[in-house]
Amino acid sequence: MQQLLVDELTGDRVILAPARALRPDTFRVHADPLPNSVPTCPFCLGNERETPPEVARRGDGDPDTPGWTLRVVPNKYPLVGDGVPGSHEVVIFSPAHDADFGALSGFEAADVVLALRDRTHFHLDRGCVYTQAFINQGKAAGASIEHPHAQIVALDFVPPRAVVRLTRFSTAAFADDRRYRIDDEQGPVAVWCPPASPTPFTLRLAPVDGGSRFDLIDDDSARAVGVALRDALAAIRHTLGAVAYNVVIETAPRDHDREFRWWVDIVPRVTVAAGFEIGTGLTVNTVTPADAAEALRTAQ
Ligand SMILES: [Zn+2]
Repeated sequence: MQQLLVDELTGDRVILAPARALRPDTFRVHADPLPNSVPTCPFCLGNERETPPEVARRGDGDPDTPGWTLRVVPNKYPLVGDGVPGSHEVVIFSPAHDADFGALSGFEAADVVLALRDRTHFHLDRGCVYTQAFINQGKAAGASIEHPHAQIVALDFVPPRAVVRLTRFSTAAFADDRRYRIDDEQGPVAVWCPPASPTPFTLRLAPVDGGSRFDLIDDDSARAVGVALRDALAAIRHTLGAVAYNVVIETAPRDHDREFRWWVDIVPRVTVAAGFEIGTGLTVNTVTPADAAEALRTAQ
């Protein structure tokens, strides 16, 4: 039976219309493995001069030379700048063209989250009001460069979806959202399928004792989030194959002083927004969050 559900944290509405006996294999994506290195890729090892000069790096060597394990560079084609004040950066989280976040070491995964935290904090400290960090993995998720990377866009205003999240937030709704957990409930990070998941196999994760701003987390928390994100993406890959996905960090803006908890949304792109979705703003989800959580839990 279909149900119209509201995501209490985002206000988004979804029609949950479970298709009977739909197995996770239905959504499985097959993709040829990527090469380890591509001569024309600006993010590959040895091509450091193809990006604007780096603003941060981890690893050895001089700026804009090999030896790095992670680089942060300004986006060559920024979404914001002169016309819309702000900043747009790219976090290249591995020199390997075929890196898969779900297969990173714990240290590598932690470094990505530490870099996103540091650069987010940098921009808020420098006068930006809101910073959006995200990963677009795969063409269906909007990635224009195949080499895995994360992005940060800093803005001088709070965007409308963030305003809605901040206005709607309640601790009770946040606790209730976690009813379909896939983690063992002992660790420092909770991972769950939201009850009003917009699309099949959407995951959400957050530190158990998190605050309102992602950029203010300590090193231990950042490392725990990195490992939990890595494990969540590995579970998605195990369940759905090489599916495209978005990872989106939902955090409070610089000057927010009301109750809020930051979290991460992971949205596998197994469906396409079509006519009904464009016309209505509703999404349609054919897999119940309970079933998705069960499949992802057993994939770990
Ligand atoms: Zn590459």
